[in-house]
Amino acid sequence: MEQATTTTRIRGRILRPERARAGFSRLDDGVITIDAEGRITALEAAAADDPLPITHPGAILLPGFVDAHVHYPQTRILGTASGPLLDWLSATVFPEEARFADRAYAAAVAVEFCDALIAQGTTAASIFGSPHPEATAILFDELERRGLRAQLGLTLMDRAAPGENLLAAEAALAASEALIERWHGRDRGRLRFCVTPRFAISCTPGLLRGAAELAARHDLWIQTHLAENDAEIRATAKLFPESRDYLGVYEDHGLCGARSLFAHCIHLEDEAWDRFAAARATVAHCPDSNFFLGSGVMPLAAATSRGIRVGLGSDVGAGRAFSLRRVAARAYDAALLRSAPTSAEALLWRATRGGAEAIGIADEVGLLEPGYDADLVALDLPPTTSDERLFDALLFALDAGPARATYVRGRRIDRAASA
Ligand SMILES: [Zn+2]
Repeated sequence: MEQATTTTRIRGRILRPERARAGFSRLDDGVITIDAEGRITALEAAAADDPLPITHPGAILLPGFVDAHVHYPQTRILGTASGPLLDWLSATVFPEEARFADRAYAAAVAVEFCDALIAQGTTAASIFGSPHPEATAILFDELERRGLRAQLGLTLMDRAAPGENLLAAEAALAASEALIERWHGRDRGRLRFCVTPRFAISCTPGLLRGAAELAARHDLWIQTHLAENDAEIRATAKLFPESRDYLGVYEDHGLCGARSLFAHCIHLEDEAWDRFAAARATVAHCPDSNFFLGSGVMPLAAATSRGIRVGLGSDVGAGRAFSLRRVAARAYDAALLRSAPTSAEALLWRATRGGAEAIGIADEVGLLEPGYDADLVALDLPPTTSDERLFDALLFALDAGPARATYVRGRRIDRAASA
């Protein structure tokens, strides 16, 4: 991988996320200066006599998208309609994920997966690996090679799936330790290990407790699923009758804290939301997946009104696109259905800065300020777009193509890199 050895400058129209508000400030002609390490050293209005040409004419620059929830081994089953959550898992997901026992298969999909992220301008993601340690290592390898930023975990499952999808608790935790040793913190923290119990149904109490201990021992984030679907919630209650509710299962096993990222969170009582907020846990809101599986509509305002950090997740393959812009458009529809409308600007912020907060990388990315890493995306914008329609044009023109350019630490990454 070629490293930048000198200062880079990128010029263009710029959207800068705000720190304290889900919105942006705009700079019509700005220059981002980036040092050899990929950090922003300055962002200022272009001087009238600056000879630097516009880097991507017709495009607008903003921080790269953060996918707060995505499944690598579901890349090839994206958009497979085979029923609600538990039926879909049995019919489609488990047979496909079993194929990741094959190294060559896992390697081919790792390339496709990284290609798909880069094409859509996603620079960071919180990723569920497969239950196979080797396949998860193969994806780490590919993420490193391609220059993407990610947290990734071995998907922990020791029950409630066919045998080829399972790994016993002791072996899974030992394999996680080995992956942590090799990958966690790699390249100045660009790659991180994330403890990843699939969901309560697929993990014995011993595995859940072991996962919590592993996270505590190594200071790691935890990601899992929560309250996605009615049948799932009933099955969880049956397996954990001693816990007060679904969130309670994670609380009781030491998995709910300020570094816990929960996907979906559709069906939570107000009182559970209060506990969630008190724990400072975070949400990956996955509306496209929720619509596609008929899971329900997440009450975004229940989270944001409590100050809970919320990012957006594609949840591929239940989600039908890697594009965070499409996910944000679905989030807009979901908020309307909950009679609590939000704005395109706020959702674009959740797809970028909000996602960085939700997956624990907010100290490194998501703000275009000196000291932050220059993870950027350039998006095409029709020249006729008025200022008033800017955010609508970025999110709701669903025919928009892929990103014009994707940068991590000031270095352009693209699909060609895999060739
Ligand atoms: Zn998921």
